[in-house]
Amino acid sequence: MPTPESSRLAGQFALVTGASSGIGAAVAKTLAAQGAAVVVNYIGNPDAADAVVQEIAAAGGTALAIMADVSKEDQVQAMFKQAVAHFGTLHIVVANAGIQVDSGFVDMTLAQWQKVIDVNLTGQFLCLREGAREFIRRGPQPEVSKALGKLLCMSSVHEVIPWAGHVNYATSKGGIMQLMKSAAQELAPQKIRVNAIGPGAIKTPINHDAWATPEAEAKLLTLIPYNRVGVPEDIGQLAAWLVSDEADYITGQTIFMDGGMTLYPGFATGG
Ligand code: NAD
Repeated sequence: MPTPESSRLAGQFALVTGASSGIGAAVAKTLAAQGAAVVVNYIGNPDAADAVVQEIAAAGGTALAIMADVSKEDQVQAMFKQAVAHFGTLHIVVANAGIQVDSGFVDMTLAQWQKVIDVNLTGQFLCLREGAREFIRRGPQPEVSKALGKLLCMSSVHEVIPWAGHVNYATSKGGIMQLMKSAAQELAPQKIRVNAIGPGAIKTPINHDAWATPEAEAKLLTLIPYNRVGVPEDIGQLAAWLVSDEADYITGQTIFMDGGMTLYPGFATGG
C-alpha cells in the first residue's frame, strides 16, 4: 500500500533555504504537510519567515525560522548547528535560495557576477556540504528513511538553456548541475541521494515582471508549450516526492518541471 501523502515524510527533519517566499515557502509548507518538521531559512525578512512558520503550525505542522546568509560559511554552519540542536538531526536539505542580478554581458561588473555565484552556487555548495556532514554524523535510521539523507538543489531551466543578459545566473545554474551530479556520484555509496529540480517559469517575486500583466504573461506563454505559467505549489509537490522513499532509486538527476519550456518551443512549427 502506498504511504498516505500526509505521512510520507513522517519523523523527518528538513531545512529549506530561502523559504520565506516563492518556491522555498511552498516547498517548506509541502514538506511540513507531508509530515516533516521544517527549518525555514530566511535572510532579511523575519516577518515573512514567521508567516510561513505560523501557516505551517496552523495546519498542524512543525517549523522553526532561522536567519542565515547562505553565501557565508560561518552563518551556514551556525544555522545547521542551531537546526541540529533544536531537532536532533536533519534528513532533508533543500538548497533553494537564489537571486538574479541582471546585466548585459559587456556591462556586467565583477560585483554583479560574484554576488550571483556566491549566493546561487557557493551557497548551495555550503548547504549541501553541511547537510552531508550531518547525515554522516547521525548515521542510518532505516525506520525513518531508506537513504541516509536527501539533498535537493533548486536549479532552473537555465541549467541547460543559455540566457542572454543573465550570464551570471545561467552560469550559476549550469554549475549547480555539476555540483549536484559530482556530489551524487561521490555520496551514493553512503546512501545520500542528491538531485535537483529545474523549474521553468513559476509565479514568484523573482520574475514578477514576466507575468504580472496580461501582456507580459501572454509573451511568457509563447515559451511554454503547456500554456500555463507554473505556481510554487507545483514545485513543492515534486520536491516532497523527490525527497521521499518513493523516489529512493533516483540520484544525480535534474527533474525539469517547466510545462515543456525545455522542448525548444520555437521549433514547434517547423524549423
Ligand atoms: P524568490 O525571490 O521568492 O526566492 C528566493 C529566496 O532566496 C528569497 O526568499 C530570498 O530572500 C532568498 N535569498 C536570497 N539571497 C539569500 C541569501 N544570501 N541567503 C539566504 N536566502 C537568500 O524567488 P523564487 O522564484 O522562489 O526562487 C527560488 C529558487 O528557484 C531560486 O534558486 C531561483 O533561481 C529558482 N528558480 C525560480 C524560477 C521561477 O520562475 N520563479 C525558475 C527557475 C528557478
